Amino acid sequence: MTQARLAQTPPAQTLTEQLQGRGWRLRFPQPLEAEFQRHYGETYQADITLAMLLGLIATLACGVGDWLWLPDRYYKMWAVRVIASLPLLALYIFARQPRSRPYLQWLVVIDALVGSLGVEIFADMANPPISHFYQGGILLVMLLIFVLCRLQFRFGLIAAALIVLLCQPFILSSTSLLSIGGREVILLLGLLLSLPGNFLIERSLRQNYLQVRLLSLQNREVEEANRQLQYLTAIDGLTLIANRRTLDSTLATEWVRAQRKQQSLSLLMIDVDHFKRFNDTFGHPAGDSCLRHIAETLRSHVRRPGDLAARYGGEEFAVVLSGTDTHDALLIAENIRMEILSLSIPHPESTHGHVTVSIGCATLIPDRDNSPALLYERADQALYRSKRSGRNRVMTWSAET
Ligand code: GH3
Ligand code: MG
Ligand code: MG
Repeated sequence: MTQARLAQTPPAQTLTEQLQGRGWRLRFPQPLEAEFQRHYGETYQADITLAMLLGLIATLACGVGDWLWLPDRYYKMWAVRVIASLPLLALYIFARQPRSRPYLQWLVVIDALVGSLGVEIFADMANPPISHFYQGGILLVMLLIFVLCRLQFRFGLIAAALIVLLCQPFILSSTSLLSIGGREVILLLGLLLSLPGNFLIERSLRQNYLQVRLLSLQNREVEEANRQLQYLTAIDGLTLIANRRTLDSTLATEWVRAQRKQQSLSLLMIDVDHFKRFNDTFGHPAGDSCLRHIAETLRSHVRRPGDLAARYGGEEFAVVLSGTDTHDALLIAENIRMEILSLSIPHPESTHGHVTVSIGCATLIPDRDNSPALLYERADQALYRSKRSGRNRVMTWSAET
């Protein structure tokens, strides 16, 4: 089903209620009924037209019987067959058009009438006992209409009434049941068995439709819950940027990519300066808000695919910069440091009067002798260098650290 169609899906409660009702009414409340009818036309158009084609072929193929059993008048019978086949062919051609979908059921009703009238005419043209064979043809018409053509029950009732009215007015006009002949008995028994079958087929198609809709609705709910779950496992709840788990997996992915392309991969470790004092001065809620502002600033600096800003833990953050060498990583780190300073979050206990961060930067070109763990280690060592050197600065890793 398309997204547009799914968007119209009725609530699960409506579908469940209809399923529990067991479908004896053969009618859903609107707009579900309208959707079902649209779905019916789309889904069964091919089946219906195939059944109509089979009816047409059977009408012509039975002409072999005319030739075998009625050699003296088979040309007349064939003429009737060809004439009866013309409306059947026209109905079949029209039924194949997409625009005929809303009228398919009526087309089948007309098909049923043409077929039944044809059978009646053939039966009249033959003499007993051959005419009995032709009369039996009405059962084939019913099989085709009520079973193969996917005719809905209420149209089945209309078709049945019209068949009786047009083909067997004798049944309606007869004053006693005893006066009804073999031909009428075949017709009535045929209808008696076909209509309940027709009812049950439509009922199970409706039940099936409800189950499919319900299933697709439940699938959507599960997908949505999965997306939510993925989001929750990937995101840090306080700052709403990536968490440590996402940081590790992104670094692993970018590591492999950088190794394949033999590119530099840089990592920044960012730690808020004297944050314990900040908390002590303003309280933890203010500390949380400060961390959120810093996270937002980091996020605004990380826009390229493959780059990531994450909360490493506590008041420490990390930024992955893929395909970035030391020079560019230092520029980005410096921009981040300055922008956090320019947030001008008051911090009386800090040397600068505002919240500042220290940043450690490490860059590696991945190969077999190094690993993401080494990159973490070096960025961390560089971070401690910046702390030792007076905070509010960016330092890169060097062998003398
Ligand atoms: P330094 O400049 O050496 O990094 O000093 P610091 O005070 O920032 O470092 P320290 O490790 O002594 O303290 C880190 C503080 O960060 C302590 C802790 O209360 C605070 N912190 C960690 N996570 C959170 C958090 O989620 N919210 C708040 N408000 N504070 C946090
Ligand atoms: Mg720290
Ligand atoms: Mg700190």
